[in-house]
Amino acid sequence: MNAFARTLHGLIALEGPITVERYMSLCLAHYYATRDPLGSAGDFTTAPEISQMFGELIGLWMLETWHAMGRPGSLRLVELGPGRGTLMADLLRAGRLMPDFLAAASVHLVETSPALRERQKAALSTSGVPVSWHDRLEDVPEGPTLIVANEFFDALPVRQFIGTERGWCERLVGLEGEALAFGLKPEPEASLGSPPRLGAMLEWPVAGLAVATGIARRLARQRGAALFIDYGYWGPAFADTLQAVKGHAYADPLADPGEADLTTHVDFHRIAQAAAGESLRIHGMATQGDFLESLGIAARAATLKRQASPAQAETIDHALQRLTGRGPQAMGELFKVLALSHPSLEAVPGLAPLPSIPART
Ligand code: SAH
Repeated sequence: MNAFARTLHGLIALEGPITVERYMSLCLAHYYATRDPLGSAGDFTTAPEISQMFGELIGLWMLETWHAMGRPGSLRLVELGPGRGTLMADLLRAGRLMPDFLAAASVHLVETSPALRERQKAALSTSGVPVSWHDRLEDVPEGPTLIVANEFFDALPVRQFIGTERGWCERLVGLEGEALAFGLKPEPEASLGSPPRLGAMLEWPVAGLAVATGIARRLARQRGAALFIDYGYWGPAFADTLQAVKGHAYADPLADPGEADLTTHVDFHRIAQAAAGESLRIHGMATQGDFLESLGIAARAATLKRQASPAQAETIDHALQRLTGRGPQAMGELFKVLALSHPSLEAVPGLAPLPSIPART
């Protein structure tokens, strides 16, 4: 057992079982602070790491949206959880198509991991755009804003509740002998109402909703938009989506605390509800495949292939398939895209406007 696992066991022995949310929160903080989890030597790979086309198309999305905002002379370009900084570097390269856009932009990275901040610094050192780092979105200065978050919400801790005869009972992590084990808080959470069936799971993304609400408030105050891409669904799902990934394979979420990536699938409906509370416009949800195709990924791949060797052309085709393919082995259908915008921004590229939905009361 490593030092972090020993501390965690000690904490539970002392305080009793902890919520799944606290477990995720402690494990993820340790996990992200102590490594670069991305790439073939790490635990998982993300869309910007698969191909430059992903970040370039998000860059085109940003250019067009900035244009639709009336080309403000000062723009906060914000990324939440930027990983290795690859998406932002590719996005800024696409931004060179419009020098006025780059001249207006300052980049703001919201990142808690010191290890990944270093990677981001290296990736963006020649971008020619001022870059600053923040612990929280609230610390980013006010002004017209464009936000992107890819595989960020799935990395935030959630509370889990299981449907019992007594109502929704919170799932806990405790000790059974020497091993971590799931348990249940005996008293139900009355405010959640009654479960649809016994054994149903309710995931409550406390941190994700706080971020979504913060973004919504910001976009209600000033012009701008936010683009979210994640493995997710339009919920509720009433299913356990907590999963651990280590070395590109699924693992037991309790087996190796702090050493595996822990994620849950994102309920985009809840994010949209947070935005509806601020009367923002909501665009999407669309699948990643449809979104990238409507932004022109096929044409971009064809252009790149014209200057490529046969081996490089094969890599481009493979990346295109991984990003847009519709089966369970690809990201095109499993990953979803949602955007929020200030009410003055009626349309954004690649996503259809969503008719208004009720805010959560
Ligand atoms: N967007 C990147 C990386 C995704 S991994 C990509 O697509 O490749 C999740 C990212 O979110 C990492 O950069 C991680 O350090 C960061 N992160 C996780 N929890 C965070 C939090 N609470 N606040 C800010 N960043 C966080």
